[in-house]
Amino acid sequence: MPIRTRFAPSPTGHLHVGGARTAILNWLLARRHGGAFVLRIEDTDRERNVPGAEAALLDDLRWLGLDWDEGPDVGGPHAPYRQSERWRFYQEYQRKLLHGGHAYWCTCPPVEQAASMEGRRRCPCARREPSGAAPSGAALRFRVPAIDTVAVDDLIRGRVEFPAGDIEDFVLVRSDGLPTYNFAAAVDDAEMRITHVVRGADHLNNTPKQVLIYQALGRELPRFAHIPLILGPDRQKLSKRHGATSVAEHRRQGFLPGALFNYLSLLSWSSPSGEEFLPRERLVAEMELDRVGSSDAVFDRDKLRWLSSRYIQEMPAEELARALAPFIDRERFPVTGDALPTVAAALRERISTLAEANSQLDHFFPPVDGERVEARARALADPEARRVLAAVRARLAALAEWEEGTVNAAIREAGRSVGAKGRALFLPVRLALTGEEHGPELPRIAGVLGRERTLALLDPGEAEIS
Ligand code: GLU
Repeated sequence: MPIRTRFAPSPTGHLHVGGARTAILNWLLARRHGGAFVLRIEDTDRERNVPGAEAALLDDLRWLGLDWDEGPDVGGPHAPYRQSERWRFYQEYQRKLLHGGHAYWCTCPPVEQAASMEGRRRCPCARREPSGAAPSGAALRFRVPAIDTVAVDDLIRGRVEFPAGDIEDFVLVRSDGLPTYNFAAAVDDAEMRITHVVRGADHLNNTPKQVLIYQALGRELPRFAHIPLILGPDRQKLSKRHGATSVAEHRRQGFLPGALFNYLSLLSWSSPSGEEFLPRERLVAEMELDRVGSSDAVFDRDKLRWLSSRYIQEMPAEELARALAPFIDRERFPVTGDALPTVAAALRERISTLAEANSQLDHFFPPVDGERVEARARALADPEARRVLAAVRARLAALAEWEEGTVNAAIREAGRSVGAKGRALFLPVRLALTGEEHGPELPRIAGVLGRERTLALLDPGEAEIS
């Protein structure tokens, strides 16, 4: 039987990197084994739903390069894929559980309901005769059977046993008629024929309840795998104070989706080869749950940056140019569309996120204020430098092709013609272009600036350069 995995986010906010990692592992497993990956929106908790969050979640998942075989937007044989549209299933299963004596209506007022369960696992209503119709204001509770333990066979953690006596008769349907997470998730996983439930370890305590529901319904259990949590460097749960936690923030910071995908896959999983730069196809070919460790993973931003720089280095020039375009501050750096591939080639080795393009481009453009403006002005005013600049400018102006090779040769020829070489040749040119004494290779700078701007900047007569 082909495997079926699922990702079941609640539309309560942005996609967190932890959620993204869960989605990625489920997706990888499905793709590795030729199975199906299902997207299900768990939106039964109306108070927590955030308008627009579902669309944003889908967008973030797509940006990461995930696709799903079944889901709210693409449909599928188990539609609908939004829990708020699946009441009929919950009602049907509610009837089944009541009918089988596995559930009962609890009419204790909410405050007493909580109090009556304290220290006791069974509510007094459990003794009442079973009835199909819901008394008004009643909640439906699961009747935990008189067994010793509920075992969860976890693919990562092995067998985890929970004393059944510690599990209270938990609520399946709240008094307002809404199914609880445990009930809706178990019903949907059963209905949607999910074979592997892979989710965060924070859900492990819910699993015995879901197992009990499955058993009461006489359904075969899926395989469970609870993946480790993601922690900050202080080993506390990853949160805002550790920096970016959502996929959207990483996207805004200019991380490449492939890099974030690769990085999140590696949290608590490693390739048998020991390699870490693993493009999607490699991950699909190698991903196995039995290589997922059980200890919590620390989110290592430096490693993510390192991977991101690798992805930027490997990206084809045209693609990198397209990716960089929206990040460049065009007011400060008026790079034209055709210059973008040159810019991409020049920046490729220097940035680890797309957003770093601006701080790097600063070394390719004339300064707008500060010490660099003065350094540039000094160079342009120096008689020896002006002689060099005029010669370089004349050679460059005569070039038919504005390429790194031709620009390089022209600068050297100009140097020979005026008897300047080394620092005496390159420093004035560099200062005239950027106001800096060190920086990228001159032909690169000229490539990024383009012919017109370069010639204007080298013109000692030019007082102000726009
Ligand atoms: N809606 C739950 C969540 O977002 C899903 C948990 C599960 O995968 O069962 O945490």
